[in-house]
Amino acid sequence: MNALDRARAAVADSLPARWRVVWLDNSEEPTGIAPVCPDEEHEEADGSVYDCCPDPAIDTEDVDLAAYLVALINADLGGGR
Ligand SMILES: [Zn+2]
Repeated sequence: MNALDRARAAVADSLPARWRVVWLDNSEEPTGIAPVCPDEEHEEADGSVYDCCPDPAIDTEDVDLAAYLVALINADLGGGR
C-alpha cells in the first residue's frame, strides 16, 4: 500500500466525500475549504460557513490551492462513494 492509499484509508470512514470552496474571511476570492453542507436551507451556491455546516473548515490562504484541494478531494473521495 502506497502513501496515498494509506492516507485515503485513514480518512475513508470519517471524512466527508464532497467538499466546496468557502469564504472564511473578507478576501475577494474564497480561500477556505469545507465539506458540502447537508442542510436543506443552506443553498449550494452560498459559499459561507454557518452553524449548520459540518467541520472542518480550513483556510488555505490561497484561492488556487483551495480550488485544487476541493477538486482533488472530490475526485479522490467522491468518485468512489
Ligand atoms: Zn451550512
